[in-house]
Parts: sequence; C-alpha cells; structure tokens
Amino acid sequence: MDTQAFKRSLHHSDRYNRRGFGSPAKRAEELEQAYQSSLIGSIRDNGYELQHGRLRVKLAEAFGFCWGVERAVAMAYETRRHYPNERIWITNEIIHNPSVNDHLRNMNVKFISAEEGVKDFSKVSEGDVVILPAFGATVQEMQLLHERGCHIIDTTCPWVSKVWHTVEKHKKHTFTSIIHGKVKHEETLATSSFAGTYLVVLDLDEAQYVAEYILGRGNREQFLERFSKAFSPGFDPDKDLQRLGVANQTTMLKSETEEIGRLFEKTMLSRYGPKALSEHFLAFNTICDATEERQDAMFSLVDEPLDLLVVIGGFNSSNTTHLQEIAISRGIRSFHIDMPERIDDDNSITHKPLGEDLLKEENFLPGGEVNVGITSGASTPDRVVEHVIRKLMNLSDI
Ligand code: SF4
Repeated sequence: MDTQAFKRSLHHSDRYNRRGFGSPAKRAEELEQAYQSSLIGSIRDNGYELQHGRLRVKLAEAFGFCWGVERAVAMAYETRRHYPNERIWITNEIIHNPSVNDHLRNMNVKFISAEEGVKDFSKVSEGDVVILPAFGATVQEMQLLHERGCHIIDTTCPWVSKVWHTVEKHKKHTFTSIIHGKVKHEETLATSSFAGTYLVVLDLDEAQYVAEYILGRGNREQFLERFSKAFSPGFDPDKDLQRLGVANQTTMLKSETEEIGRLFEKTMLSRYGPKALSEHFLAFNTICDATEERQDAMFSLVDEPLDLLVVIGGFNSSNTTHLQEIAISRGIRSFHIDMPERIDDDNSITHKPLGEDLLKEENFLPGGEVNVGITSGASTPDRVVEHVIRKLMNLSDI
C-alpha cells in the first residue's frame, strides 16, 4: 500500500483534523488549571528538592507531561466541546495514564474495545468522531475510519509521525526497517503499518541475534520461530537482511537504541565493506526529545544519595518502564506505581516490579532520615506527582 499517498488524500479530507479546535494559549491555560501543581512548582523553584521533617524528596529535573501528551489531551477536550452531541470514540488510551483516561470517560468519550490486540470497530458509525491518540494508529485503522465516514481527530505526536516518515523512506529505497520497539506497543504497531519490509527487535540481545545471522552464524528455522510475531508478512531473513534501515519507538531507552544502531552499522561494515556500506545501512535516531531529557534527568537523579526511588506512570507506558530500568541498573530500591492510591496509610505500597505482577510491600518508607527520589513518565500530570509526595509527607509524619 502507498501509505504516503493515503496520508496525502486523508489530510485533504474535510473530515480529518490534526490541528484541534482551540488556540495554543487557551490550551495551555486549561491544562494548567486541570493538571499543574503549585507544590511541584515550588519544589522546582527550590532546586527540585523538598525537605519535610525527616523526609527529603529529590525530583528529577525533567519529568512528567511532555509536549506531545499535553497537546493530545488538550485536543481531546477541545473535540468534546466542538462536538457536544456527536458520539466520540478514541482508538486507544489517549495516553498511558489512568486518571486522564478516566477523565475522558467521564466526558462520555468511548474507548474502542480490543480483544487479544484486535480492535472492535463494529459499533463505530458514519458521522461518529474518532480521536487517534498521541502514539498514533495503524494506517489500516485510519483507512477503515475514513471509509466509514467518521470525523478523524488526529492527535498523533509529530515525533511519532517522524518515525513513520523514516520507515516510509526505508520502504521507498527498498531497505528493511529494523524497528527497535515493543512488538505489541501501539506505537510500534502503527509504525510497522507504515513500513514495507520490517523486523522488530526488543533489545540489544535480539539485535545481536540478528547481527549473528547476517554474519552467517544463525539458523533459519530458529530465526523464523523466534521472530514469528515480529516481522512483516513473507519476511525472508536470507533476502531481507541485506539492506537495513534502523528506526525506533520514540520512547525506548536511548543508550540501547544507539548501541543497536552501532551494532548494525558494524555488522553491515563487516559483511559488505566500507565502500558499499551506504548501499546496505541507513541509521536514524528517532528517540524524541522529551524521552531523552527524562532519561538524562534520571541518570542524574540516580547519582544522588537515595534510599529509594518512586517512578510514577502507567504500567503499560514504555517511557516510564525505561526510567524504572535505569533505577534497577543502579541497584536502587525502586517502586513503579501508576497512581498515588498505591501507597497506603499503613506504610505499604503496591507496585509493579519490572516484568512481574503487582506486589504489595509492607514497611515501605524506612524510619529516620530518608531520601526519596521521584520521577514520572511523559503521561503523568504534575497533580499526580504532588499527590504521591503528599502521601510520603504524611507517612513520614507518623
Ligand atoms: S514521549 Fe515524545 S513521542 Fe511520545 S508524546 Fe511525548 S513528545 Fe511525543
């Protein structure tokens, strides 16, 4: 499918909107009222630190709502006002934050249901309004909604659109896109729908496995089995790993993405030699600025003397999970929670250890002087962070 031609025709449709309905100034004001926090503002002004009795809180110097998320949330609210009587759907969570998504539900915005990753659009009718979230939607979903006569409000973050352009460029020049991402993540699903031939690799380990194969040290059957859910239809590792372009989900760990890029460059260099490298390898870093800033701030935060770290964000939020990984890599006692209510007045916390189910831990905040680091993912409003800090303050007072 010519995805570029489809996008061009969609953008010219009077049933498609990617600018929203309000002025940027009004948007900023509205979001400030809904999600900003005066406590967080004063902590920022105090060098990102708060001392409350025996408790010292150190905030990361970049955390929380990013520009793309703010824009998507504001556009969703504007859409409700602009279409007060129409049925409004959203193809997925607008962002990975339970409180923001609940707020939209309260405004009677309906979420398209999905079973085992397959969305059910059967209840969506002509004339309905459908919002596409910040991490985008697949080209097939857009096509279906357009053909059904829906109004599409596209809040896809421009950083995500940039990745789509990158894989379209690979496709145009017959390169296979190696996408560093999570195969079931909505953003990666959308990105692969714009790619031609593609292979999704989760991490450096998987990238190394692919590199070994390129260098003739792999087994075809094992390769096909291992990546069976991660490549484009008809993918042939013997034919489709000769010309590679690298792209990534915008919220992956930046250092790992860079390493994967270098690994494939080195691999293609060994396989084809320096003169032919440009024929066989194209790199492009598509990590977004907000993700990069939050990860850099986390690397500074973990250098602080901390007793524990609280990472706040949706459990299915990729950028939040990577912040948690940084804490774990430094051996810091850390807790990933998605909402303040996970911290209880009896000094217990229900949190999600990386790759595991929810776990309740008693005696969460230790006695005596205690240093707590806090960060939050790009989908987490400051008010939520404030609420967590207030819970910690209360616990430290007991
Ligand atoms: S994390 Fe980056 S790509 Fe995702 S919405 Fe925010 S700015 Fe856009």
